[in-house]
Amino acid sequence: MSQTVRVRFAPSPTGPLHIGGVRTALYNYLLAKKHQGRFILRLEDTDQARFVPGAEQYIIDTLQWLGIAADEGPSQGGPQGPYRQSARKKIYPAYVARLVEAGKAYYAFDTPQELAAMRDRLQAARVASPQYNAISREWMKNSLTLPQQEVAARLEAGVPHAIRIKVPHQKTIRFYDQVRGWVRVQSATLDDKVLMKADGTPTYHLASVVDDYLMQTTHVIRGEEWLPSTPIHVLLYQYLGLEQAMPQFVHLPLLLKPEGYGKLSKRQADHQGFPIFPIAWQDPDTGTYIPGFREQGYLPEALLNFLALLGWSPAGGGKELLSREELIQAFSIERIHKAGVKLDIQKAAWFNQQYLRAKPEAERVRYLTAALDKHHIAYTPQQARQICQLIQERAVFPQDFWEQGKYFFQAPETYDVPILKGKWNKQVHEVLQAWIAVLRAIDVFQAPEIKTTLARLLEARQMKHKQVMPVIRVALTGIGVGPDLMQTMEVMGQQEAIKRLIQGLAQFEKAKDLAI
Ligand code: GLU
Repeated sequence: MSQTVRVRFAPSPTGPLHIGGVRTALYNYLLAKKHQGRFILRLEDTDQARFVPGAEQYIIDTLQWLGIAADEGPSQGGPQGPYRQSARKKIYPAYVARLVEAGKAYYAFDTPQELAAMRDRLQAARVASPQYNAISREWMKNSLTLPQQEVAARLEAGVPHAIRIKVPHQKTIRFYDQVRGWVRVQSATLDDKVLMKADGTPTYHLASVVDDYLMQTTHVIRGEEWLPSTPIHVLLYQYLGLEQAMPQFVHLPLLLKPEGYGKLSKRQADHQGFPIFPIAWQDPDTGTYIPGFREQGYLPEALLNFLALLGWSPAGGGKELLSREELIQAFSIERIHKAGVKLDIQKAAWFNQQYLRAKPEAERVRYLTAALDKHHIAYTPQQARQICQLIQERAVFPQDFWEQGKYFFQAPETYDVPILKGKWNKQVHEVLQAWIAVLRAIDVFQAPEIKTTLARLLEARQMKHKQVMPVIRVALTGIGVGPDLMQTMEVMGQQEAIKRLIQGLAQFEKAKDLAI
């Protein structure tokens, strides 16, 4: 690309960013970095009615956590600032005035009641989506229908009015989308969108086009939900005589529910028990705290890798684990997918597990020791290391080192008895009693020796390992899953392991659920 790539991520601070928004930010960032361009953060905060305290900081914190650093933005400044639209309000009136003068936009004096009445009328006439357009504008109160003098008088008197774009009656609007190819839209399907509201604030359409022009945006990369707005933007570029400066449009595929149909929603994600926000969000109105990917133990580099492949794939395929540098090098608009993508949360967890495994051992051990310290539990560094080694194959999140490691230090207080249903019986009880006696006499309490003693006893009774293993595990740890049992016992130590077996068997013997 000969021109310097300039892209922008333009969220409205109306609440926490959705994970799809983070993907948009990431693709913008990747394209900018790949071409040594500029990644701009622009806050589209002109809609005061939708202002949510904390949302702007949330966006900044999210990008920082993920290392998606803006080159220009509200905090870092830059040559085309300010980067908050609320601070750019003085810029827009001149553009809208140009449009009105050229007859491409007009004053609309309709009250909310009149607008509602128009919609009712159209609905009654079975118009599927009532619009303010080339036909309906004819019977509304605007500078196209009212006599010139009256318009002047109203403006003079300060009668509240919006300014709307004048969409041509029957025209095909064409634009090229880098993902979808040529898009053609009949102007008759478009609304005469408000460009400037009665209170003088610009709407998204106007502000976004003017700012993309002034900020010399080369590519508009955003979610597919903005595709229907694009014909209006294209018209604005044409009306303003800025077609030459029009950026390339890149609309990213929708994120779908894990089942693959329907748009991913917050409700859906809650229902399936996975986060939809990158980091925790505390609702300023209700005080509700909603944990994000970060709080659930996702590592930023894993989430980044996962998101990058959610709608894009590198040439050559196959390789999934890609560092930030590799993603930057491989990224290209041509390989962005057209079809919606399922958010497969299992895949996100898989990425996390891979990145967790790749961390230096000392860092993984720290996940455990930090928790041990917090709970005032004594340990030796060697013990902590051994436990982490046992757990690391299974650990998906940093907190798993504690969740799956605490049993080494604390005997279970509760037992997952129901999973032993059908497994606990007299024969099992007897062989484990016998085993305890043998374990007491072992000189070298190490996994291979422990294993041999059990194997011998089972063999003599023609029993299988799987008959006793779950019982041993629950007795030792209280739960049904965990690392290799014999190694677990070795790390636990002879006395502790025996004590827990005795205690566990006594519990199972008493458990009503397991009555034999
Ligand atoms: N403010 C819009 C949003 O909230 C920006 C859409 C665009 O990128 O043009 O996503």
